[in-house]
Amino acid sequence: MSAPNGSHDVVVIGGGITGLTAAYQIAKQSPGRSVTVLEGSERVGGIVGSYQQEGFTVDTGPHGFVVYGPGGVGDLAEELDLTNELMLATDEAQKLLLLRDDRELLTLPTTPREFLRSPLLSLRGKLRVAAEPFIARDMREEPVYEFTARRFGWELARTLAVPAVLGVTGGDARRLSIDAKFPYVRYLEEKYGSILLGALRVQLRGTQTGRFYVPRLPKFGEFGMRLHTFRGHGMQRLIDALEKALAGQIRLSTRAARLERAVPGGAGGRPLTEERGRSEDVRRWRVVLEDGGTLEADHVVLALPSYTAAEFLEPHVPDAASVLAAVPHPDVRVVALAYRRADVRNEPTGIGFLTIPTDRTRILASIHTSTIFPEQAPDDMVLIRTLAGGMQDPAFSALSKDEAVRMVHQDLVHIFGVHGEPVFAFDHLWRRAIPEYPVGHVRRVADVLRDVAASGGLHVAGNTYHGVGINDCVRDARRVAADVTADLTG
Ligand SMILES: Cc1cc2nc3c(=O)[nH]c(=O)nc-3n(C[C@H](O)[C@H](O)[C@H](O)COP(=O)(O)OP(=O)(O)OC[C@H]3O[C@@H](n4cnc5c(N)ncnc54)[C@H](O)[C@@H]3O)c2cc1C
Repeated sequence: MSAPNGSHDVVVIGGGITGLTAAYQIAKQSPGRSVTVLEGSERVGGIVGSYQQEGFTVDTGPHGFVVYGPGGVGDLAEELDLTNELMLATDEAQKLLLLRDDRELLTLPTTPREFLRSPLLSLRGKLRVAAEPFIARDMREEPVYEFTARRFGWELARTLAVPAVLGVTGGDARRLSIDAKFPYVRYLEEKYGSILLGALRVQLRGTQTGRFYVPRLPKFGEFGMRLHTFRGHGMQRLIDALEKALAGQIRLSTRAARLERAVPGGAGGRPLTEERGRSEDVRRWRVVLEDGGTLEADHVVLALPSYTAAEFLEPHVPDAASVLAAVPHPDVRVVALAYRRADVRNEPTGIGFLTIPTDRTRILASIHTSTIFPEQAPDDMVLIRTLAGGMQDPAFSALSKDEAVRMVHQDLVHIFGVHGEPVFAFDHLWRRAIPEYPVGHVRRVADVLRDVAASGGLHVAGNTYHGVGINDCVRDARRVAADVTADLTG
């Protein structure tokens, strides 16, 4: 329900997956309350969306999701009645590749036998990995790179930790915190004293803890933990369904500019003191729009990138604002190219590849779209989506579309033996795309959430707080929705 007169129970600023999910959950759990989403651009979805042309579907952000644990995208899809539209990736999506020395594609092993046979590591490197169960616990927070090196050896850290972090987030394994980025791996160390033994136990038994949902790892072909998207539409379908469920409650092209305490008599901008305000106004907030309009609400959810949330929080919760403003966000560029199948000598296999960075290859990671979701390209075409840029290669952001396409094409020529020009090219630069979680992030986020909660009525949610994946964003939206609903109905 939305209120026409500028007075609302809840205003959500930001209509990405986080803001839409938060608004949807609040509206569902607090019927009769007015909930309004303000979205600055002409469309909702933020990073999540799909571009469709000439028989190709290219996701602009996430290309799919894994049904993993409660409260994530899988459950949201069910709530939105989308289960019948879920489309499972082909079995090829179980296979991940690693690009080594710019040209050599290795399949990452998934079983001990494959690991022993794989040329991924030297014999010495393999023996060091096998010694992992004998490495003592050390619960001091450390970067992903150091953590991997301590437990599994430097060779695995160089070969896998660096490309994995780069390819998934555009970030730097030498800076990112293992506790913030991969809390589950850290949990295995804490609980079982070994990642390998812990993973084995979990695989055999599964477990549900207060902190993590840890399913029994699936056998090949099982439904859970496999990559999904939505048939016919790509990830855009999820956004369309949320938009429909929130019909009449979303204001597009409505950019919020700042937040004020709603002071009786209209004097905005200064914090309200008990003496100046009537008690019932103390907790209200006024959202001032870029066009000068205003909305008042009891609760304001900032479902925004943390550097933007910081601008809104600065006058009211300055310490939290300065922490959020400092979270690094590398640029990431999505370049998708399609070729005639006949022009590709080595057909891409697997879900895609990660890259051990060199100064020659610009691609950080690839998704072999036509291999895992064949309906997203015409039958006679091969569609490859790549990520480039990131912390490793900030100069990639400055390239024109033609230059970016040419660079990626050159890489693909070498990697897959492409001998024709692309017949379709998509390019999108996400500036300040994905937050990095440096060492200390978990503690800083806890401080931010405590300070923001004390403001009375302000909330933050999104990809900075409890994970960058869309499952994490959906769960974070549920966290905020639960807080708001508890207050509205309490
Ligand atoms: C290239 C790329 C690939 C990715 N791939 C995956 C993947 O495969 N799997 C996965 O799980 N995750 C992936 N992610 C991460 C995931 O997509 C994001 O973390 C998530 O979509 C963030 O959603 P959000 O709603 O929190 O933020 P956003 O999507 O950034 O939404 C914020 C919204 O706020 C709006 N806004 C900003 N300022 C204002 C204002 N002043 N007033 C009103 N509105 C405003 C913006 O227009 C935007 O719509 C990927 C991210 C990128 C960039």
